[in-house]
Amino acid sequence: MPLNIIVCIKQVPHPEHFAKISLDPARQTITREGIPTIINPLDRNALEEALTIREEFSGKVTVISMGPPQARDAIEEALAIGADNAILLCEQTFAGADTLATAYSLAYCIQKVGQFDLILCGNETIDSATGQVGPQLAELLNISHANYVNQIVFEQGKSLIVKRALEHGYMKVRVKLPALLSVVKEINQPRLPTVWGIIEAREKEIQVWGAADIEAVPDTIGLVGSPTRVTGIFKREMKRKNEILEGSPTEIVKKAVARLQELLAI
Ligand SMILES: Cc1cc2nc3c(=O)[nH]c(=O)nc-3n(C[C@H](O)[C@H](O)[C@H](O)COP(=O)(O)OP(=O)(O)OC[C@H]3O[C@@H](n4cnc5c(N)ncnc54)[C@H](O)[C@@H]3O)c2cc1C
Repeated sequence: MPLNIIVCIKQVPHPEHFAKISLDPARQTITREGIPTIINPLDRNALEEALTIREEFSGKVTVISMGPPQARDAIEEALAIGADNAILLCEQTFAGADTLATAYSLAYCIQKVGQFDLILCGNETIDSATGQVGPQLAELLNISHANYVNQIVFEQGKSLIVKRALEHGYMKVRVKLPALLSVVKEINQPRLPTVWGIIEAREKEIQVWGAADIEAVPDTIGLVGSPTRVTGIFKREMKRKNEILEGSPTEIVKKAVARLQELLAI
């Protein structure tokens, strides 16, 4: 049975350049301009899983990303890795979205795409790391969802058994298709783009859509559609006071306890 799989990918700043990210206190935003970017690492795992499933069952892998024009780089890389086609949601109206507005935009886009069997997301991103977009998107599309997924096994018919990595073990869950799964890195080892893949990707179409293309309800997307607002943004200051305590180990412990009690006024 051929499967239509959608993979949601987000372009994020390269972790080696996180130190260069600056804060814009006037707009209460993070300034990412000029910082090298990558596909969010767990989204590469989501893409790898989609490609593996396509290899087994046949079908089509569509990549969707919402982001600024430079997010095209992430999409081109996903096409070179093996996705069949791609959509970039790119328009000023999408800017300033919180997680709910992001999920709404992706949901409208997926509704516009039409038929799908499986949506794969990363469990979380490395820049905002809320882990909310996947579950919110599934809710909006009214489909099943599982997160922390580290294994997917197809059953006969239209269901899957997924293994969820919990803090102290695993949970196996049966999930009915269509479904959205948020994956963790243990699920697979993502492949790299090949030279042939890069050449082939040039022939693949990237559709760039705005709010009108996905028939988005204006007050559900972008900053206007975001029920949360950043009210303050600051760099954490690390202040450390050092005190050297002298004496034998027993004396030092006694002094340390007394000093802590004094400082905490207990
Ligand atoms: C209160 C608040 C205000 C914000 N304001 C701004 C702002 O002004 N400007 C700004 O740039 N950002 C802003 N953000 C960040 C923005 O909301 C997030 O970048 C976005 O919603 C995704 O959230 P996340 O990174 O936590 O995704 P997670 O929920 O951690 O991501 C899980 C998965 O969802 C998918 N996904 C997430 N985002 C996308 C995407 N864009 N396209 C495709 N797939 C995606 C990926 O598969 C990802 O692995 C704000 C966030 C909050 C909480």
